[in-house]
Amino acid sequence: MTEREEIQQLRKEIQIHNHKYYILDQPEISDYDFDLKLKRLEKLERLHPELYDEHSPTVRVGGSVTKNFEHKNHPSRMYSLDNAYSYEEFVTWYDRCLKTINNETGREHIEISCELKYDGASINLIYENGKLSSAVTRGDGFQGDVVTSNIKTVRTVPLELRGHFPAFFEIRGEVILEKSEFERINSERSSLGLTTYMNPRNTASGSLKLQDSSQVAKRKLTCLPYAVAGENLPFKTQLEVLESLSRFGFKIPEHYKLCKSLDEVQDFINHWAERKNNLPFEIDGIVFKVNALEDQEFLGATSKSPRWALAYKFESENAITRLVDVVYQVGRTGAITPVAQLEPVLLAGTIVKRASLHNKDQIDKLGLCLNDRVYVEKGGEIIPKIIAVVSGESGQNSCVNFIENCPECGTKLIRIEGEAQHYCPNTEYCPPQIKGRIQHFISRNAMDIEGLGSETVSQLVDEGLINRIEDLYQLKAEELLVLDRMAQKSVDNLLEGVLKSKDKPFAKVLFGIGIRHVGQTVAKTLAKQFESIDQLSCATYEELVAINEIGPRIAESVLSFFALEPNQITVERLKQEGLVFEITQTNQSQRVQLFEGKNIVVSGVFDNYSRSEIKQLIEELGGKNVSSISAKTDMLIAGNQMGPAKKKKAESLSIPILSEIEFENKLNNLTDIK
Ligand SMILES: [Zn+2]
Repeated sequence: MTEREEIQQLRKEIQIHNHKYYILDQPEISDYDFDLKLKRLEKLERLHPELYDEHSPTVRVGGSVTKNFEHKNHPSRMYSLDNAYSYEEFVTWYDRCLKTINNETGREHIEISCELKYDGASINLIYENGKLSSAVTRGDGFQGDVVTSNIKTVRTVPLELRGHFPAFFEIRGEVILEKSEFERINSERSSLGLTTYMNPRNTASGSLKLQDSSQVAKRKLTCLPYAVAGENLPFKTQLEVLESLSRFGFKIPEHYKLCKSLDEVQDFINHWAERKNNLPFEIDGIVFKVNALEDQEFLGATSKSPRWALAYKFESENAITRLVDVVYQVGRTGAITPVAQLEPVLLAGTIVKRASLHNKDQIDKLGLCLNDRVYVEKGGEIIPKIIAVVSGESGQNSCVNFIENCPECGTKLIRIEGEAQHYCPNTEYCPPQIKGRIQHFISRNAMDIEGLGSETVSQLVDEGLINRIEDLYQLKAEELLVLDRMAQKSVDNLLEGVLKSKDKPFAKVLFGIGIRHVGQTVAKTLAKQFESIDQLSCATYEELVAINEIGPRIAESVLSFFALEPNQITVERLKQEGLVFEITQTNQSQRVQLFEGKNIVVSGVFDNYSRSEIKQLIEELGGKNVSSISAKTDMLIAGNQMGPAKKKKAESLSIPILSEIEFENKLNNLTDIK
């Protein structure tokens, strides 16, 4: 055998063993023998540079260096997918697809291909006559970076396709890093004293852009293909595409499923929502595609995404990011809140840069140090929280030490016994406390003063026009008009808003004056129980804790509020201004009538109430909570994110639908009667 023949034979053999090892997981020879063959081939190729072939398996080990990655247009555009975050959104999409197909073809069924949504970096692989000619990152969908030499080191990307294939076409896939490989890389880096990587996805996409392809080769990336593009392709369905890709020599995880009914789809979602963490790689959802490619043609695409596909994202994801800094905010009650500043990270569809840390105990419990990688999770709150430090991280960096003095006024912080929070005790003069109290008073959930916003309050305090809540009622047009950004119209609005606030119900005023720990619900309870500020201010500790929702912490706080002279003055002045400081018997008895005998469904998420608060109010007002909509339902109270199916049903039965604001207005109308 000549050396030329030996080169040809080795190339062929290594390709076959590569496929058996990486794609089929059925190695036939030992790693040692495999390496021997590869080394022999490398040696022969060095002796015969004239026989160089860019598709030889020796390119797998890398070695070429790319300083600047060229840009290249994708032959066909790489669309992004529309997202759905609930099963109901999926159903809406499904119904829309079915309707279009029904109009086009008269068919009454569509099949849906369900595939896992791999969390990595998208890649476009272009094959000409079965050989990988270029690999391009997704980029903006029209144009990406050419990373062919790096992709050639990915063992699961065939350099040459097997079997019968189209002469020219594109294969779309996701380049991912398996979790075990990610952990291996990180532990190697940390033993070398290098910063560890954030998560498998970022590491995978970062790896594609490394300049030295031999470094990429060491990272053991994997490519999982999911689509093809090109003209006059022979495939009829998405499933056939996946099966063909497998025959061409790609690795296709066997987790896809063809679903013929909505029930099957729901089962698929539930199955993977539970098991997603058991996979060797990370997924962030499920991709649904209308299975028949002909149907996909009928459905077409919008300017951004195809109408025949949908990415379903799992709920309440958590993400890993890095703690950059901790800053301290001073609230209106002087409470100090530590806030984590994070490296921006995508979490459940939004970019997260901050997370709340609650208090010193929380920081100590997490063992938080600057530069740590941390898990952030979005619970029900708007601001996500840090749930843990990635194991093995802590202790290497400088730990977070809680501050001892107020960052705003320098006063030494105190901690009330039995409470987790630190406070700045400089209530009267600490600037954020002065501003915070007034901003809270005017806020939407409290007095809701139109024409006056947080920034204006800040401006008025800075100008020395107001210092305390009651000063708002002394504001005069002539002193406002001279200020920046204060035209006649805004001054009129502001003063009118202040005047109108005198009609707000007692519970809102009570919430607005800002007693520590007295939130909206507690304010309502206190207003209802004591009926006036005079009775509340005389209440004893025993009387307070005797009320169902009032614990020792709130009781103490109410007592100490009324014990302080500045607060007594505020209440007295506001009374003189004519604010509402009591509820009357008439509106109490009227309230009971409001929903009497009515069957009410509450659905969705609300801005100012929890769902159980609304349900409780309904019961207090004589209504009955029912869970599903039927002809017997009298009313639907609809929050945000209510399922479209529910809404549709209510509309079809002509059941009145009340928004949160309409519901609140109904309540306020009652309590406004004096
Ligand atoms: Zn302070």
